[in-house]
Amino acid sequence: TGSLFTPNEYPQVQQAIDDPDSIVVVSTSPAVRVALAEAFGLEAGRFEEEKMIGLLRKLGADYVLDTNFAADLTIMEEASELVERITKKTAPLPQFTSCCPAWVKYAETFHPEIIPNISSAKSPIGMQGATVKTYFAREKALTAKQIVHVALAPCTAKKFEVRREEFNSSGRYHGDPAIRDTDFVITTTELAEWAQSKGIGFDDIEPSHYDNLMGEGSGAGVIFGNTGGVMEAALRTAHYLITGTAAPTEFFDLQPVRGLTDVKEAQAQIGDLTLNVAVVYGTANAGRLIEQINRGEKQYHFVEVMTCPGGCISGGGQPKLNWGQEDLTRQQRIDALYTRDRSMDIIHRTSYDNEEIKKIYERFYGHPLSELAEKLLHTHYTDRSASLGVKKMKYRCKVCGFI
Ligand code: SF4
Repeated sequence: TGSLFTPNEYPQVQQAIDDPDSIVVVSTSPAVRVALAEAFGLEAGRFEEEKMIGLLRKLGADYVLDTNFAADLTIMEEASELVERITKKTAPLPQFTSCCPAWVKYAETFHPEIIPNISSAKSPIGMQGATVKTYFAREKALTAKQIVHVALAPCTAKKFEVRREEFNSSGRYHGDPAIRDTDFVITTTELAEWAQSKGIGFDDIEPSHYDNLMGEGSGAGVIFGNTGGVMEAALRTAHYLITGTAAPTEFFDLQPVRGLTDVKEAQAQIGDLTLNVAVVYGTANAGRLIEQINRGEKQYHFVEVMTCPGGCISGGGQPKLNWGQEDLTRQQRIDALYTRDRSMDIIHRTSYDNEEIKKIYERFYGHPLSELAEKLLHTHYTDRSASLGVKKMKYRCKVCGFI
């Protein structure tokens, strides 16, 4: 499943597993668990978290952690940044989400004027990698150099993101540029291919559970895999940060931001503040929205952008969607994530109530947007328009938005 641009990296992960001096830590993104079964030829919409963890253990991972934990960390940082933009006017509004690397690269290339609006918070995989090589290493008495951190993701663009120098902070933290926050990315289909190369079938896998410290994610972290999920997760925490009280029940079933419509708008009432938000997938849609914002036709506080239709559940590293049934399969994957969120107690559906998140701020980061959090969990972006000569070019694809 690898290509020249997105090489399949499981052979390198296998080498690290075979190396007795390496500790292999795998972190799993939210959307993988609702599509892994399909990669083994089973039906869509199965939530197979425990089998996914069991498979990674069977393949030899030393630790299996949940990137949903870092999705909660992303929400803590990104919602705090949004509150600062609104209350202290520290940066322009609307704030755009930053967790989709394909969207970030599109904005850097075609709409660099929007760079100050993009949240400086790294993506969940970005935060997970930096935290594994610092906090997790310290707490487990390991060295950052021993650890090989692998992201299991639905997304081929993450292979590019983890190689961006400005997104790599643990090397700077340890004073050793050879240390990478995340060393390899393998996708859902690559994991299944790896298992099949070892003769492992789905029924051969013993279900298992995450390791602790960075293995607990809230319901808010779970829904990150869906379009609208980051928005809903952020609003649950923003309500708490602004008012000091838990969000009302409608924030736990925020229908206006859910579903497969490509551009959605909603208003959320938080205390005296009416927050205008938009949720978009597809870079062409994002480009049109930015142009409307630039012309003053639209005003928002917060905009979520994902590149893939329906969000990460249909990322480029997920099993192929059946011809003619694309939206049905997307919806089944989406439903599986929302069902999981709904099945959790209310206290486990918000990022700020995640016990491991409380612990990491107490023991390591201090508080959201602290000096250490800024150093490890935030980044900056680059104007890529001039180097590509974009301004001189006239034609842009109406579907994908790329020239
Ligand atoms: Fe990757 Fe697609 Fe998710 Fe963006 S929306 S992070 S490109 S899987």
